[in-house]
Amino acid sequence: LLQIKNLHKKYDDLVALSDISLEVHSGEVVVVLGPSGCGKSTLLRCINGLEEIQSGEILLDNKIINLDKTQWHQIRQKIGMVFQSYDLFPHMTILENVLLGPIKVQKRNREDVIKEAKQLLERVGLIDKIDAYPRQLSGGQKQRVAIVRALCMNPEIMLFDEVTAALDPEMVREVLDVMLELANQGMTMIIVTHEMAFARAVADRIIFMDKGKIAEIASPEEFFTNPNTERAQKFLNTFS
Ligand code: ATP
Ligand code: MG
Repeated sequence: LLQIKNLHKKYDDLVALSDISLEVHSGEVVVVLGPSGCGKSTLLRCINGLEEIQSGEILLDNKIINLDKTQWHQIRQKIGMVFQSYDLFPHMTILENVLLGPIKVQKRNREDVIKEAKQLLERVGLIDKIDAYPRQLSGGQKQRVAIVRALCMNPEIMLFDEVTAALDPEMVREVLDVMLELANQGMTMIIVTHEMAFARAVADRIIFMDKGKIAEIASPEEFFTNPNTERAQKFLNTFS
C-alpha cells in the first residue's frame, strides 16, 4: 500500500532522516519506536506531505506521491493523521468538527456524511456528545473525536503521532482501545507511541529508529524479548 524508498530529509544542515526505506502492506500495523529526536514525527510528516524531502520516493498505491505539490491536497485525503494535540475547532460542535472535511473538502453529500459520522461516533462511545463543544469534553474524548474526524474522510492509511502523550493516564486507555479496535478491523496504520505494552499488542511490525535511521525492523515478539541492537536494548531498559 505504502512504499518509502531511500528517503532523505534535512532541516537546513540537520539530517533528520537518512536513507529510510519501508513498506507498509494493506491492513498492516507498523509501530515506530525510538528515542526523542530520532525522526519519528518527521517521518510521519513526510509521508503526509507536510515536509519537503531532499531525495527518495514515497508511493501510495504504487503511485509516486512526493513529486507534484498540486496533488497533495488530493493525496492527503487518503492519509489520515492524528497528532498529540487534537486541534478541534472550539466554536464548532463535535458533529460539525467531524463533518467539516468530508463536506467542505471532499464535497460529499451532507446526509450521507452525517450518517457515517454518527456511526463512527457511536463506535467510539461519543454519540451523546455530538452537539457538545470541544471545551465540554475530556482530553480522551477530544482525542477520540480527532480520530473519528480523520476516519470520516475514509483514509486508506492512518498515521498516529503520540496521540496519548498529552493525556492524563486514566484517559490513555480509552484512546488506545479505539486504535486497537481499528487495527482489528483491518485499518492500515503507522503508530508512533511511547506506550510499550500497547505497541507490543497492536503491532505487526516494530520499526526502531535511531538518529534518523532505521536501526531495526522486527516482530514485536522479537523486538521486546531479544532486540538486535544495543541501542534498542538501552531504549527498552528506560521503560522497565
Ligand atoms: P520526539 O520523540 O521527541 O517526538 P521525534 O523522533 O518525533 O522526537 P522529530 O520531531 O522527527 O523527532 O525530530 C527529528 C530531528 O529533527 C530532531 O533533531 C529535531 O530537533 C529536528 N527537527 C524537527 N522538526 C524540525 C523543524 N521544523 N526545524 C528544524 N529541525 C527540526
Ligand atoms: Mg515526535
